[in-house]
Amino acid sequence: MKSIKEIVSSQKSFFKTQKTKDINYRISLLKALKVEILANEKAILKALNKDFKKSEFEAYLSEFGIVISELNLAIKNLKKWAKPKRIKASLLTFPSKDFIYKEPYGTVLIIAPWNYPFLLAIEPLIMAIAAGNTVVLKPSELTKHTSEVITRIIKNVFTELHATSIEGGVETATELLSQKWDFIFFTGSTTVGKIVAKAAAKNLTPTVLELGGKSPCIIDGTVNLKLVARRLVWGKLLNGGQTCIAPDYVIVQSEMKQKLIQVLKTEIKKGYGENPKESADFPRIVNKKNTLRLAELIKDTKIIFGGEIDINDCYISPTLIDEPGLDSAIMQEEIFGPILPIVTYNTNEDIENIIWNLDKPLSLYVFSNNKSFIEKTINKFSFGGGVVNDLLIHFGNHRLPFGGVGASGIGEYHGKHGFEAFSNTKPVVKRGNWFDPSFRYAPYKGKTGLLKKVFKFLG
Ligand code: NAD
Repeated sequence: MKSIKEIVSSQKSFFKTQKTKDINYRISLLKALKVEILANEKAILKALNKDFKKSEFEAYLSEFGIVISELNLAIKNLKKWAKPKRIKASLLTFPSKDFIYKEPYGTVLIIAPWNYPFLLAIEPLIMAIAAGNTVVLKPSELTKHTSEVITRIIKNVFTELHATSIEGGVETATELLSQKWDFIFFTGSTTVGKIVAKAAAKNLTPTVLELGGKSPCIIDGTVNLKLVARRLVWGKLLNGGQTCIAPDYVIVQSEMKQKLIQVLKTEIKKGYGENPKESADFPRIVNKKNTLRLAELIKDTKIIFGGEIDINDCYISPTLIDEPGLDSAIMQEEIFGPILPIVTYNTNEDIENIIWNLDKPLSLYVFSNNKSFIEKTINKFSFGGGVVNDLLIHFGNHRLPFGGVGASGIGEYHGKHGFEAFSNTKPVVKRGNWFDPSFRYAPYKGKTGLLKKVFKFLG
């Protein structure tokens, strides 16, 4: 077996052969990847269920289906995306033809998290290959059944020189990060994101960091609470609350709180029954360590619904928490579980005091029928992406770039934005030789006046 260092070195040599620059070759590999993934549909869905009891419906909706859509999109559009784009020339470059080229970075590292273990490993892989890179992917060690399927799929489609999956935990990730990459794409926690950024800085390696944070959900006094609760329960409990863009906590207008709690309870029971532990649709927490972390988070809080914990089964029931202190752990840490704190506001300053005292969130949600309140909220707060009157669905439109800001991430991807994330933008001016006025050449004496006029003309 080759060492990590040898794999990286052989991928770099392979990249230099220019084979990955061939668009038809890239398309043929994406097609082969699609065939392999489709052939493994059952194995993928089964692995996700084994890893944390993810239901077939959720696995298809939030992982398998999106991966196939991204593959179809890349296969259909790659020629268009990769073609050099003619750009209007400038008077300063006249005569010239100006272009933007998209070139692959080279040999890239992708590190994936466990919470959407198939999607968040394969989607970056698709776009990295589409852009013409070679890839080393490290899937998460916490969802080992899915990681095994990922490794097998990649092995069946690619040579190790082009793309490979290296399984392992922190030690493997650390060794991978000590190599010199042309680009790093990381999805995971803000804490580990800082470690990745530090390792990348050593070689000034460009990165995309897709991180987490506390995404607020603001609910004002103008909404239909029944509809809000239905969407909120879906957005919070999908994947057992282990979604980077899940609404972390609710800020509701104080007079609406009691009614909201009442309808949330009804909706949770409607979706997952009196005992969600028995529901085939309610996933588990990924491991005991995270279950214990969540149990600790709700320990000294006012639980108004749920709160059942079974550490051995990695189970935490859907839980509502009433008005936790803003400096409590549950209002400071990213929750990443089926627990929803509900805090209230009376004035806009109350909302500012909560959101501005935390890092910039990955997502922000606002439920309201007041146009002015919606626009003011969107413009006032900085966040990665958001939705008005629903949750999570901005992830579903490949035309929208997806990423965080500040502590919730750097850079963006999805659809064409994913192809661009894995490409270096290379502007090229092709100068004509038929005209070469002496104006720009020394000696400059007597030319400044004309130069000023040219800039005035350019505006
Ligand atoms: P994590 O940061 O613990 O792990 C992510 C990856 O980093 C794993 O492959 C892991 O092996 C590796 N890793 C862990 N410790 C490392 C270290 N010290 N050095 C180098 N690599 C290390 O994250 P996670 O628990 O797998 O995922 C949950 C987090 O990811 C949450 O914060 C969530 O919000 C975030 N997330 C963000 C997005 C997004 O698109 N922005 C998507 C999913 C998850």
